[in-house]
Amino acid sequence: MKFENSNCAEDSIFFQAMEEVIYSISPLLESDPKYKRYAILERLVVPDRVIKFQVTWLDDNNKIQVNTGYRVQFNNALGPYKGGLRFHPTVNEGVLKFLGFEQILKNSLTGLPIGGAKGGSDFNPKGKSDFEIMKFCSAFMTELHKYIGPRIDVPAGDIGVGSREIGYLFGEYKKITSSYDGVLTGKPYMFGGSLMRPEATGYGLVYFTQAMLEHEKKDPLTGKVCTVSGAGNVAIHTIEKLQEIGAIVVTCSDSEGMLYDSRGVDLKLIKEIKLERRGTLKEYLEVYKDVNYIPVADYPDGGHSVWTIPCYAAFPCATQNELTEVDAKNLIANGCVSVSEGANMPSTPKATELFLTNKICFAPAKAANAGGVAVSEFEMSQNASMQKWSFDMVDERLKETMTQICKRVALTAKDYGVEGNYVDGANIAGFKRVADAMITEGI
Ligand code: NDP
Repeated sequence: MKFENSNCAEDSIFFQAMEEVIYSISPLLESDPKYKRYAILERLVVPDRVIKFQVTWLDDNNKIQVNTGYRVQFNNALGPYKGGLRFHPTVNEGVLKFLGFEQILKNSLTGLPIGGAKGGSDFNPKGKSDFEIMKFCSAFMTELHKYIGPRIDVPAGDIGVGSREIGYLFGEYKKITSSYDGVLTGKPYMFGGSLMRPEATGYGLVYFTQAMLEHEKKDPLTGKVCTVSGAGNVAIHTIEKLQEIGAIVVTCSDSEGMLYDSRGVDLKLIKEIKLERRGTLKEYLEVYKDVNYIPVADYPDGGHSVWTIPCYAAFPCATQNELTEVDAKNLIANGCVSVSEGANMPSTPKATELFLTNKICFAPAKAANAGGVAVSEFEMSQNASMQKWSFDMVDERLKETMTQICKRVALTAKDYGVEGNYVDGANIAGFKRVADAMITEGI
């Protein structure tokens, strides 16, 4: 396959994601010629459209600031485009193409009627006042609203975009269009949000891991030491569910460093620091003086300190490529049994390969972190039917969805001769559903 008109440096992460999928699905492509006849792969790796726009806003000093906004609408064979918005200085077209491409297969795996997309901006929310965040979100939506709609494209949150930002984006959409549509998910509960959306990705990750460990006849997580990276939405709710089921979570991290508390981390304090104060994990030491805090500058060469801590199960929940070959070797040497990806593609290809060859139970992101988008779809259903589901009902459906995804992935892997390989199972099962829809819909 040739990729012309590509900005290779920016697209390298997109190619990394694509390469893994192409390799995984080759047995399917060989076994059924219709996918080649309909040029599904060639059509799937190019987004339907990439929308790129200028976002101009006034900071608190009345100085004009300019950022770039994007929406990558990748594929809508299964339903409206659906995928998060990321506000982070590292955002560029390549990163969003990688995330959008992964999102197609992830959304397909849920079995729900949603296509794949991703968007965001290189805007850095760190250090910005609440008014600056509001002004940026308004300016971003001034352009984005032209391309989205409850049956067209329904964005949600991602790194740097939580319920505060979704609230401001929704407010601006409503002002421009005079329409009270379910056009964004992850909305605050008081105006159309679903209960459990904030918890969904983390809780879903733990439900998937429980199902995988049971299927692979390994010990459950209760009483086991677990390591988690990140300290954002996904990490915090992963820790919360793990603690609820009796696991001992000893680490978390942010972009400045990592925390190791062998007694088990104090989640209440972490929430206070990261969610309420928007501070750094170093502040944990003000309460617990004896814990280990390692700043990023002191991480091992080519690796990350979180993964040097012995554990039964590891949960990378920060960002892409945060778990390297060095880290994978450390985890394996320390007897780790399972690795579940909460972040999108946190493991590098070398790390993934090591996990697979060493028979570690490895839950890839597109299957294991699909709980967030599944509950987003539940939010769309509730908005469309003007209903409100209870917390228990959402939780029950989330658990069922994650268990079903796990079963589908495991069975697909077995059917294609790679039993126990959840990477290939997820790629084949996710690809097949989208590809069959594309064939049925014609070109
Ligand atoms: P948040 O913005 O809430 O948290 C991200 C966390 O990761 C923060 O602790 C942040 O540190 C840390 N982090 C970000 N970049 C880096 C970096 N380069 N190095 C080290 N740490 C970093 O995001 P989410 O929790 O929502 O998202 C985390 C991951 O999960 C992403 O890969 C996202 O795409 C994926 N995901 C999220 C879903 C959701 O529902 N939110 C759904 C599915 C996947 P700091 O606090 O210092 O910024």
